[in-house]
Amino acid sequence: SLRCGIVGLPNVGKSTLFNALSDAGADAANFPFCTIDPNVGVVPVPDERLDNLHEIVGSKEKIPTSVEFVDIAGLVKGASEGKGKGNAFLSHIREVDLIVHVVRCFQDENVIHVEGDVDPQRDIHIIEDELILKDLESVEKRLESLKKAAKSGDKEDVRKLEIVQGLKEHLEVGNAARTYEVSEEERQAYRELFLLSEKPVLYACNVSEDDLDSGNDWVDEVREIAAEFEDEVVTFCAKIESEIAELPEDEKQLFLEELGISSAGLDRLIQAAYEELGLITYFTSGPKESRAWTVRKGSTAPEAAGVIHSDFERGFIRAETVSYETYKELGSEKAVKDAGEMRQEGKDYIVQDGDVMLFRFNV
Ligand code: GDP
Repeated sequence: SLRCGIVGLPNVGKSTLFNALSDAGADAANFPFCTIDPNVGVVPVPDERLDNLHEIVGSKEKIPTSVEFVDIAGLVKGASEGKGKGNAFLSHIREVDLIVHVVRCFQDENVIHVEGDVDPQRDIHIIEDELILKDLESVEKRLESLKKAAKSGDKEDVRKLEIVQGLKEHLEVGNAARTYEVSEEERQAYRELFLLSEKPVLYACNVSEDDLDSGNDWVDEVREIAAEFEDEVVTFCAKIESEIAELPEDEKQLFLEELGISSAGLDRLIQAAYEELGLITYFTSGPKESRAWTVRKGSTAPEAAGVIHSDFERGFIRAETVSYETYKELGSEKAVKDAGEMRQEGKDYIVQDGDVMLFRFNV
C-alpha cells in the first residue's frame, strides 16, 4: 500500500500524530491489517462513498483502502553527516512514496523547541537541507562515473553528464531535486539514484487548538514555502487528534461539533496524501463485501483488476461499470441495469475515481 514517512524536527508533534493515526487504524472494525511494527501504522482511508455503498447494498463487510504511516524520528541538523540516527533515518525516507513533514506552528512554553523558538521557515530548511546534502553525495558519486564514461565521447553519456551536472548545480544552491525541471526522458539519467528531495512532500502544520480554523502567520509562512516547492499543506492540532482518537466512534462527531471543526485533521491529512500522489479509488460491492481499492490515476480497467488479483488482469474480458453517483441515485444494481446505466467497459477503459466495478474474466 501507499507509504508515508512522517518527518520533522524533534518536539514538533510527530509521535503525537503517529499515535493518533495508529489509534485511528486500531479502531476500524473488519480492517484486514494491523500494526506491523511499533513505527509503522496502517490507517484506513475514510470515504463516505464506501460507507454509503455498504449501506445501499447491505454487504456483510466493509473494507476501506489503506495508507501506511512510518514514524521516522531522529532527524536533526547534521543527519546527512551521520549525526543523530543520521543515515539510518535517511535510508528510511528512501522507502516512502510521500514525505509528511510535520512543522511546529504552535507556541507552548512547556514544550522546548530544539532550535530555540518557533520558526517554520528555518525548521523546514533544516530538514530540506539535510535531504539535499544527502542527495548531493549520491549525485557526486554518479558524476564521477559519468565523467569516466563520457571520456569516450559517447553522445548518450555526454548528454547524461550534462543533465546530472545541471542537477548538481541546482542542489548546491539549496533547491530540492523535485523542482529540477527536466523531461521524463532526461530524468532517466539519475532516476535510479532515488533521490530524497525528489519525493513529494505534504507539510502538516501542527497548530494550537485556537488556530485550527483561522490558521496563523506561521501557517502562512509554510504555505509560501510549499508554493515555491509546489507541495501541499494541511493544518491539524496533534493534541486534539490524540484526544479524538481515544473517543468511541459515536462520540467523535459530537466532539468535533463542540470544537466547531468540520472534519478531523487526520481525515484531511490522509485524503491530501492520497491526492498528492495522484491516486484514485474504485469500488467493488456485493452481498459479501463492499470494498475500496486504490489505483493510480490513468490506470486501465485490466490494471485496476490486477490490484485485486493478477488472474483478473491476465484473464480480463470486460468490466461492468457504473459511477458511484449513478449507483447512489438509482439505489440498487438492478435499478442501474434496468435503466441501461451499466456500462460494459473493455481493456482500454481508463478507470475513473468512484467507479463501481465488476470484473468478468477467464481463468
Ligand atoms: P516529536 O518529538 O516530534 O515526536 O514530538 P511529540 O509528539 O513527542 O511532542 C512533543 C511535545 O509536544 C509533547 O510534550 C507533546 O505533548 C507536545 N505537543 C504535541 N503536539 C502538540 C500540540 O498540538 N499543542 C501543544 N501545546 N503541545 C503539543
